[in-house]
Formats: sequence, structure tokens, C-alpha cells
Amino acid sequence: MCGIVGYIGHREAYPIILKGLKRLEYRGYDSAGIALYDGTDIKLSKTKGKVSDLETRLENEISTHGSLGIGHTRWATHGVPNDINSHPHYSNSGDLVIIHNGIIENYESLKKELIKRGYNFKSDTDTEVLVNLIEDVKKNENIKLGKAVQIALNQVVGAYAIAVFDKNKPNEIVVARLGSPLAIGIGEDEFFIASDASPFIEYTKNAIYLEDEEMAIVRRNKGVKIRKIKDDSLVDPYVQALQLNLEQIEKGGYEHFMLKEIYEQPSAILDTFRGRLLSNEGIIKMAGVEDNMKKFLNAHRIIVVACGTSWHAGLVSEYIFEDLARIPVEVEYASEFRYRNPVITENDVVIAISQSGETADTLAAIKLAKSKGAFVFGVCNVVGSSIARETHAGAYTHAGPEIGVASTKAFTTQITVLTLIALRLARAKGTISSSDYRHHLIELELIPEKVKKALESDAYVKSIAAIYKDVHNFLYLGRGYNFPVALEGALKLKEISYIHAEGYPAAEMKHGPIALIDENMPIVVIATKKGHYEKVVSNIQEIKSRKGKIIGIVTEGDKQVKGLADHVIEVPETIESLTPLLTTIPLQLLSYHIALMLGKNVDQPRNLAKAVTVE
Ligand code: GLU
Repeated sequence: MCGIVGYIGHREAYPIILKGLKRLEYRGYDSAGIALYDGTDIKLSKTKGKVSDLETRLENEISTHGSLGIGHTRWATHGVPNDINSHPHYSNSGDLVIIHNGIIENYESLKKELIKRGYNFKSDTDTEVLVNLIEDVKKNENIKLGKAVQIALNQVVGAYAIAVFDKNKPNEIVVARLGSPLAIGIGEDEFFIASDASPFIEYTKNAIYLEDEEMAIVRRNKGVKIRKIKDDSLVDPYVQALQLNLEQIEKGGYEHFMLKEIYEQPSAILDTFRGRLLSNEGIIKMAGVEDNMKKFLNAHRIIVVACGTSWHAGLVSEYIFEDLARIPVEVEYASEFRYRNPVITENDVVIAISQSGETADTLAAIKLAKSKGAFVFGVCNVVGSSIARETHAGAYTHAGPEIGVASTKAFTTQITVLTLIALRLARAKGTISSSDYRHHLIELELIPEKVKKALESDAYVKSIAAIYKDVHNFLYLGRGYNFPVALEGALKLKEISYIHAEGYPAAEMKHGPIALIDENMPIVVIATKKGHYEKVVSNIQEIKSRKGKIIGIVTEGDKQVKGLADHVIEVPETIESLTPLLTTIPLQLLSYHIALMLGKNVDQPRNLAKAVTVE
């Protein structure tokens, strides 16, 4: 799940690769390395730790000169994060050097074969096996690097985005992809290679996204030649114009990406419904839905497949679709769905949700659903991502790049998109009255302003964080639409502060978690006016009787919960189905402040990575 960067052209490669790796650190950050060709030889430096650790080490270790190079920031799958397992990896002869994102599943049998043929291995990685396999093929068949890569990849089972070069042919980099993303930036007599476009956005707006099972030979001054790995056929390069700009991927004055992204939510939500929600005309326009209206209207059920935070957004959508559009919904962990022989028919609509659009399990679930004849609709944030391409149709969330590993604006914009779809379908099916429909559109349009208002609780939330930062356990409770928000609140806290937290439906508390409650236990209870308010108030009473500390998330002006809770955080009033877009905000801020006070790395929590491109 690492980040890869490469450069070949007329500039110094090192600063471009280093900056690129910093931008890709969200993809993995347990080790980093760079290999440069200095005109005569390969200079390589790598280390356990972050790109900043590499920077210090590399500049003392090797000359940074050269206009060809590759770099890697790792999220280990095979072999612990140490210096030796870091990428790039040399082949035995020292001629080839490779970076790799993904997993070579049959690496053990390949390794055994190579050992028999006299190869030896320094690292425990699957990647070092691949580079030696390429070398072996190249030598045995006496062929060029590109051809050797192709033959080797045809022996490989697994997933990869790779970049490899040969010091004896320093005018080209060979790249290939299957399952992991790879973009090629096209400049004036220069080319950039990266896991996403962020490393080269200031140099060029033109990019080619390799498709699965494609490889490319990127030649200095000559251009890019793309082929299918399996049958060797040539592919016409499709050059896309990128929309991304530099400002969007920088911190813009905030201390952390996560905080910036929390604060971007009003504009991210607005961008997500811009042009789609025309409340004056009472219209919702989404091309992916309109073009496939029949599929949606004939659907016997909707199956949502997703992982992590996206799965929570899916759970919120279960309430919206069933409540408004009266379509039965099942929400599935993609990782379970893909392996349990699920019943899927041509009458099912599958909605796949993923911020990055690269989530390996979700991608596999999509392929499975397609093979059974279901119509698959994607909800992703990253334009041109694998899921966006693999699905029959879809809707982007338009949240802008999300760099903080803990998802924030992706969650609220996913809910926004799903709400728009549910409303559109409800209207088409006639399951919502005109006045209710209008009311929803008007309320949805007010959400960005209300999110801004909810953000005003920041300083107060920070003071609550200071009180509870040292506890070991947190409980989050919510009902109905706000049950998934409780799950998401608990996940946020776990991810970045490493405090154990559990989310539960408020009424389920009595069936177990209540045993945990004592005077040291903080319990965040979402108790907005709409949505089983009285029932939640009873749950709060039950907590209070057991001396738990209550942090209530309430509707502005609330009095009842205020009288019972230790702290209350107010959010503006809205209709029930839209409350998750507001109640989520203080929970994001709470986890942010607690993690920060505990000295944790908010943007890059341990063991995690932004895009989970391995299963
Ligand atoms: N499997 C390779 C390793 O463990 C690459 C992992 C990745 O994609 O980050 O080194």
C-alpha cells in the first residue's frame, strides 16, 4: 500500500522525488528510499522511518545528482519495516533496481526456484523476488528490460504497481500495474511516475493512468509506449487533463491535514451537491443515476459494499434508502462479501463506496457482483480511480484530496451523495410527498452553513478533550441515523489516539456494554431532538444511575439532556435524515484534540495507511 514516485527528464530528479514521496506518505510511512542514476551508476539510500528520516540520511550518504530516479514510501506487507526491507531493491547483479506497491502472492515458490538457480536474497520482501525474476528472465533470454518485465509479470500472481530501471540503459523506466494505481505525468521532454498525480501536479496537468494489466516503457525524449502485459498488444495512450491544483494538496495554514479537512467540510459538501441539487426548481440531477434510472427503480434491493469509514457512510444510507425510497438495503463489509458466496442477482443494485477508489476488497467485491450480473454503482472521491473505472456508473464526492489518514470530509460527502441518490429515487418512485421532498432539498442546501456553525464548538470540544484525554476507554451511543455516527466517532478516536472506543446502538447498551460503565467511563451520546429523543434520554438516565460521564451531542437550545449530562455540545437543528452530517463534526474534533494532546501523529497514525490497496 505504499507510494511510488519516479522521474526521467532534464531536471534534477532528487527534489522532485523527495517532495513527491512527502505527498504520498499518506499511503504508507514505515520506511522510505530513493535510487538515482548519477550518469555512471545507481546511488541508493533507504531507511526505516519516514521520508524526513530518509532526507537526513540520504543527503549525508550519497550524491543527489541525476536526472533519472525512483522513490518509495512503504507500508510493509512482507518483512518487518527495517532498512533492508525498504525499497528500492537491487537485483543480484546490481544492474536493476525496483520499487513496488502491492503483494506478489506466489513469491515463495518463485523465490525457491531462484535460490536453486543461485540467487540470494537480502530482504524478506516479495519485491526483491520480483526484481530477481526479471533479471533471471532478462539474462536467460538475452532480451531488453521491457520484454523481461513482461515475461516475469506473466509468471506472477498478485497485485503490483512497479517502476524498474537498468543502469546499463539509463534512458528508460519500465512501469506496470495490476491492482495498484499508477499515473504517468507527461511534461516537455520529461516524465513523472507516481501512485497518484499529487507528486507532479506543479509540473504538468497531463497524465496517463495505466489500466490493470498494462505496462509502459517511459523513454527520455521519446515518450511512452503502452502494452498489454498478457498479449503484448499496443494500447493507445489516453492523456487526461488533471483538475487538481497545488493548493488543494497543501495544508493551507492548518497545523494538520486532518484539521484542514474537518474545516473544509462546508465547502466539500457544497461542492458535492453543486450542479446536482437545484432546490429552486425542485430537481436533483445526477447523470449516473438518470442514465440508469430503470436499474434503480427495478432493483429488488440495494447492496452496499465498503470498508471502514465508507462502510459507516453505507450504514447511514441504509436508513435513508429504506426510509425515503423504500428500497431494502444490505450493507456489507467488502472483505466478507467477496469471500462468502453471496446471493446476488441481476435485480440487485450494488453501491460500492471508497474514498480512494482503490480499496482492494471493495474492488474485488465489485468484480464479483459484476460477474453475477448486478448493476454496480460507485461512490468515490478520487477521479479516474480503479473503482470509478470498474463500476458501470457512479457519482464522485468532489471532496477534494483527502490526505489525513483518518477520513473526515470523505465521510460527510459520501453521505451527501447517497442522500441525493435516495431523494432522487424516492421522488421517482413516489415514496416521498412533494412537500417532504422540497423540505429535504431546502434543508440539504442549508447543511454547509450549519456545518460551519457546528465547527464553532471547536474550542469547547477541545476543553472536553483535555478532561478525558487520559482515559483508556470510551463508549459512543446513538440511535437510528445516528447509530452509524456513533460507530464512526469511536473509529476516529481509536485510529488516531489509540484509545479503545466502542460504538453501539444506544438501546443495545443494556445487553452488554453497560457492564463497563463506572465513574471513570466517558460516554458520548448523540441525542439530537429528531430521532428517538425520549428513548435516548432514558438511556442517558441509565448511564447516569451508574455514574458514567456523559458527553451529549444535542440540538441547539436543548434543555433536557443539558440537565442530565456532564457536558453538552450543540449542533444546529435539521431534519432527522441529515443529522449525521452535523453530529459527526464534534466527534471528529474530539478525536483530533485528544490525539494531539496525547502527542500522537494525527495525520499518519501508526499501522494505518490511507488507501488500503491490499486485502
Ligand atoms: N509487498 C511489498 C513490501 O512489503 C510492498 C508493500 C507496499 O505496497 O507498500 O515491501
